[in-house]
Amino acid sequence: MDFTGELHGRLVLPHDPDWHTARMAWQLAVDQQPAAVVYAASAQDVSATVLAALQMGLRVAPQGTGHNAAPLGPLNRTILLRTDRLGEISVNPLTGIARVGAGVRWIQLTDAASKYGLMALAGSAADVGVVGYTLGGGVSWFARSHGLASNHVVAAEVVLADGTLVRADADNHPDLFWALRGGGGIAGIVTALEFRLFPMTEVQAGLLAWPIERAPAVLSSWRRWVDDVPDQVTSVGRMLRLPPLPDLPEPLRGRSLVAIEAVCDLPVPQAEALLAPLRALAPELDTFGTTAVSDLHLLHMDPPYPVPAAGDGMLLSGLPSGALAAFLGMTGAGRDLPLLSVELRHLGGALRPGAASGGAVDGFDAEFALFAAGITPDAPSAVATHAALDELRMAMSPWEAATGYRNFAERSRGRFDAPEVEARLRAVKAAYDPGDLIHANHPVPVSRGNGGPVPAPGR
Ligand SMILES: Cc1cc2nc3c(=O)[nH]c(=O)nc-3n(C[C@H](O)[C@H](O)[C@H](O)COP(=O)(O)OP(=O)(O)OC[C@H]3O[C@@H](n4cnc5c(N)ncnc54)[C@H](O)[C@@H]3O)c2cc1C
Repeated sequence: MDFTGELHGRLVLPHDPDWHTARMAWQLAVDQQPAAVVYAASAQDVSATVLAALQMGLRVAPQGTGHNAAPLGPLNRTILLRTDRLGEISVNPLTGIARVGAGVRWIQLTDAASKYGLMALAGSAADVGVVGYTLGGGVSWFARSHGLASNHVVAAEVVLADGTLVRADADNHPDLFWALRGGGGIAGIVTALEFRLFPMTEVQAGLLAWPIERAPAVLSSWRRWVDDVPDQVTSVGRMLRLPPLPDLPEPLRGRSLVAIEAVCDLPVPQAEALLAPLRALAPELDTFGTTAVSDLHLLHMDPPYPVPAAGDGMLLSGLPSGALAAFLGMTGAGRDLPLLSVELRHLGGALRPGAASGGAVDGFDAEFALFAAGITPDAPSAVATHAALDELRMAMSPWEAATGYRNFAERSRGRFDAPEVEARLRAVKAAYDPGDLIHANHPVPVSRGNGGPVPAPGR
């Protein structure tokens, strides 16, 4: 294989000295073994890679960071297309629209947007890829007030499975544009994305934490609390078993805690009044206060560097007392659990289906998102973590919603969408990538469903 003459970026093959670095995902526990790695430096490089793959009978897996690499599998007969070098960022303060290349990470955009007093719908982690996150939906700290990040996309530039570069928006390739907003990267390789930003510089945000033994009282109070909070409040209830890592703040290092994290886009007095019932539970740690939007990536304490880990999640239709008891039974103080974090994110508000417009996923018919993860530096810890994830899923399955969330699924999962959405996604895949060239982490089958006709690309 050699198409280096056509590339602005680089082709890395298994005999190259940096092969192991090139094939590595952010999730270090994932052992990717592609046929080749291409570092694309331009949209033309993406086209050249697609054409080379077509010629050689290979597939192409685009990857921004590899945060959700686990479901891809081993990548046999696949070129891993790394988009890290597609680093374009522009923010238009007049229109409030950002344009980012496929390799941009959230921290880069939140920093760029904050210079103009604008906020981006970033998730909890600084180094997650903007494009991968947004294609899967994107639950930010403003999810209950602004909906999914994907619902605010206005255009995407996409290399199709025949190597052509197109612009997908409301008027051009509308079915592809629909699929890209929440349906994942199933039918094209995005080289750049354009989406709305929002004027906001500061919020009331922070973490309240208690020893894990207090979890039953804390989480049942939080559960009642979320019923009454306005949509401007997005919060997370969390069980943490933190390792004694030096980069964790001293009061958290090596501790097992129950925590509530919240972001309130409300005036100080209103936020303080809302918090009062949680503060009445006398948290050991209270970091709540006025916070720059550009600092919110610190709130959830996600690892700022690649880690060997395994995680998984599901949507919950509700969290009645039986569900909370099952959650506490699985994750409470009495358990020796290999899961560093098990969290419940409060949904609802602008995440209710139909509250936002457009896209394959325009919200969730679910009240909470569950996500759990453990660190897996070796085989025994991986086995223990996967067993705990299975047990947690089983325990919470009576409350599992009918649909799922791609971004929180780190192990292969068959179904995420309502049948009519799935059928339309299959039709888009069949029209845009009938040969199944694009290897997405959460694929849809190529076979045509009954989602209605989707014209072939270019027609
Ligand atoms: C620590 C951590 C914190 C997280 N926090 C949040 C959060 O707060 N909210 C939330 O919603 N999610 C969150 N996630 C989930 C995250 O959004 C998903 O893992 C997402 O898929 C990551 O995108 P990526 O580009 O970084 O990862 P990658 O693994 O590189 O990409 C995932 C998939 O996206 C597709 N893709 C990526 N780039 C392209 C492209 N250019 N063209 C076409 N398809 C493409 C591919 O199918 C790829 O397999 C978190 C994950 C982790 C590990």
